[in-house]
Amino acid sequence: MVSLFTWIQKSKQSSKKRSKFRKFIDTYCKPSDYFSAVRLILPNLDRERGSYGLKESVLATCIIDALGMSRDSEDAVKLINWRKGGAKTGVNVGNFALVAAEVLQRRQGMISGGLTIKELNDLLDRLASSENRTEKTAVLSELIMKTNAQEMKWIVMIILKDLKLGISEKSIFHEFHPDAEDLFNVTCDLKLVCERLRDRHQRHKRQDIEVGKAVRPQLALRVANAASAWKKLHGKEVVVECKFDGDRIQIHKNGKEIHFFSRTFLDHPEYIHGMSDVIMQNILVDRCILDGEMLVWDTSTDRFAEFGSNQEIAKAAREGLASERQLCYVAFDILYDGDTSVIHQSIKERHELLKKVVKPVKGRLEILVPDGGLNVHTPAGEPYWSRVARSVDDVETFFKRTIENRDEGIVLKDLDSKWEPSDRSGKWLKLKPEYVRPGSDLDVLIIGGYYGSGRRGGQVAQFLVGLAERPASNSYPRRFISFCRVGTGLTDEELDAVVNKLKPYFRKYEYPKKGPPSYYKVTNNSKERPDVWIDSPEKSIILSINCDIRTIRSEVFAAPYSLRFPRIDRVRDDKPWHECLDVESFVELVHASNHT
Ligand code: ATP
Repeated sequence: MVSLFTWIQKSKQSSKKRSKFRKFIDTYCKPSDYFSAVRLILPNLDRERGSYGLKESVLATCIIDALGMSRDSEDAVKLINWRKGGAKTGVNVGNFALVAAEVLQRRQGMISGGLTIKELNDLLDRLASSENRTEKTAVLSELIMKTNAQEMKWIVMIILKDLKLGISEKSIFHEFHPDAEDLFNVTCDLKLVCERLRDRHQRHKRQDIEVGKAVRPQLALRVANAASAWKKLHGKEVVVECKFDGDRIQIHKNGKEIHFFSRTFLDHPEYIHGMSDVIMQNILVDRCILDGEMLVWDTSTDRFAEFGSNQEIAKAAREGLASERQLCYVAFDILYDGDTSVIHQSIKERHELLKKVVKPVKGRLEILVPDGGLNVHTPAGEPYWSRVARSVDDVETFFKRTIENRDEGIVLKDLDSKWEPSDRSGKWLKLKPEYVRPGSDLDVLIIGGYYGSGRRGGQVAQFLVGLAERPASNSYPRRFISFCRVGTGLTDEELDAVVNKLKPYFRKYEYPKKGPPSYYKVTNNSKERPDVWIDSPEKSIILSINCDIRTIRSEVFAAPYSLRFPRIDRVRDDKPWHECLDVESFVELVHASNHT
């Protein structure tokens, strides 16, 4: 398997990569072994094993302990700082598996430990089911004993679920069996695919969706404006809907059994607490699959809450805490009803079914059907979140309204289309107001930097930016408040220029030994923590950033709000540091845009 990975990675042509995989399957695997092998090649699609709970940083400490290294040793520091590199920055910086291989090379022999695929899978099962770091470290230590550095490198990649082989999941599926992709799309079950499709010359009868098995969702194709959306759907009967901003969730109800499958086909049992009664009482059939968006409804403001609070509200529901906020599921489609799949029916027909199957409950369980449906009004006070569009002007008007409402955008659907798993061919189109400026540009100050990975490993590639604490009149600000993390928008050259200018003022953040400079107010949330600080704000640079119109309440950063999808518009070399936007002005701006 290691040779297969190495060969696939080395081969440039996609056809060669595919034929290597074919040869491996034909030569080295018995049909009964297919799943054991394929799950290691497509680790991100494997749902038989739970999650390892190991991201790079935890994996680093487990490997350090498994190898019995001191945490201060050069190699341990190298592993912990895999993104940043050390005094001697190596070529592998930014790629955890390569840094690990470099460290392991000095400790493991060259000789293969002869671990079989079965043994590896058994150990990975143990790794996933072990409950604490000590147990995980013990499994890793056993893996290290039974492998060489080369083998261990790939195992690390399997654990991180990214092999970087340069071959798509689609190609692997096609090479495995002509019906593999289709079957996976409707079952999200890799084991079943490998077991049912053992003979690639025998075609599989097209399988329909089943209650209890996640289906890969129908997706939307992005369009630039209303006119091009209208052109694409020319002559069709079209519905325009609000693009709700929550979690895409399929509800599978089978009697009393309820699953909440996400886009990545993970079940979310945490939603059961806030939702089970509502579902049991208001979904009027025994078995069905609904497609929709899980959101939070705020009863005090009579609005949907901003993105990002689903988990918090699910947790509050589990703990039985009273809250003005509650989970609300907006069903925009139905895929299964009673004992039949209905994805082959038109949306129009499915909307009718949806109306029969779901009894809407205000702010808890809503249906999205044209010119009706949701019990709740849009923030602008209008009753409709969904409309049949008869002209491009209808689309334009609906879209403009979503901008005013600060919604995420709109989705256009061909009312005559069927629902197709994993399809993004244009039956659904999405139109989003991107980077609309909330009134004016936001001129913020760079206060820290984050190292990049891959090509930008070992170099600052993103910035922590801050807002000023409003200074007394006629004076300069004295403190800056962390606001958001921003990395996109500049060309490589522009980014290099900013980084080079700031380099002399970078001070490594030695967490927790040395805290942030006193002139920065931060949260110390690990998601915020930058790798370097800018030594003195007077030396720093102002960036003009713009963003999605909506702001989010922030726990990661010190400012009361942060931005969604911030993007650097330009570097303001012409603005001195003290002209940074201050928090109060920003909050006023947010409130002003909330009330227009
Ligand atoms: P994005 O980041 O734009 O949501 P995406 O890749 O997650 O993109 P797309 O298929 O491109 O997903 O866009 C459709 C997504 O929009 C769905 O996955 C769903 O979560 C969300 N959505 C919100 N409202 C609707 C709606 N009325 N109809 C369909 N999808 C909707």
